[in-house]
Amino acid sequence: PLPVLAVVGRPNVGKSTLVNRILGRREAVVEDVPGVTRDRVAYEAEWTGRRFTLVDTGGWEVDARGIHLRVAEQAEVAVELADAVMFVVDATVGATDTDEAVVKMLRRSGKPVILVANKVDDQRAEADAAMLWVLGLGQPWPVSALHGRGSGDVLDEVLRVL
Ligand code: GDP
Ligand code: MG
Repeated sequence: PLPVLAVVGRPNVGKSTLVNRILGRREAVVEDVPGVTRDRVAYEAEWTGRRFTLVDTGGWEVDARGIHLRVAEQAEVAVELADAVMFVVDATVGATDTDEAVVKMLRRSGKPVILVANKVDDQRAEADAAMLWVLGLGQPWPVSALHGRGSGDVLDEVLRVL
C-alpha cells in the first residue's frame, strides 16, 4: 500500500485547491462556500517519482453540529489513517481558535504535521505566513495553492517525513 497524506484544516482555507495543485488536475471540488467537501476523498498522487495516496477532507469545526460534526469526524478519521498530515491555514486570516483546536487534535494523533500557510499569493504576504509560528508546529510553509507558489518546496518537505 502507498503512504497516505491527509490534507486537513478549516473550511475554505484552500485544501481542495491544494489537492488539485498536487494532482496537477482539477478533480477535488473547490467552492467559495465553506463545507463542500464533506467526506474524505482519496486520490493517487505522485511527486518527484514517489507515489502516495492523497486524502482531501471537509473542514474541521470545533463547535461542530449536524453535518459539520460528520465532517469533523471524517477529518479525525483521515488523520488516524494517515502517515503524515498537511495542516492548511489561511495565512491572510491568521490563526483562529478553530485552528488552535485542530492543532490539539493533531498533537494527540502523534502524526508528523506539515504546516501549510496558504493564500500567500505574493512576496508581501509572506509576513502573514511567519505569524503562524505561534501555532507551535514548526516552520509554516508559504504556499499559494491557487497560483502554485511554494507548492514544490512544501511537497519536497512532505516527502521527507512521509
Ligand atoms: P477548502 O474548503 O479548504 O477545500 O477550500 P477550497 O479549495 O474549496 O477553496 C476555498 C476558496 O479559497 C476558493 O474560492 C479558492 O479559489 C480560494 N483559494 C484557495 N487557495 C487559494 C490561494 O492560494 N490564494 C487565494 N487568493 N485564494 C485561494
Ligand atoms: Mg474542500
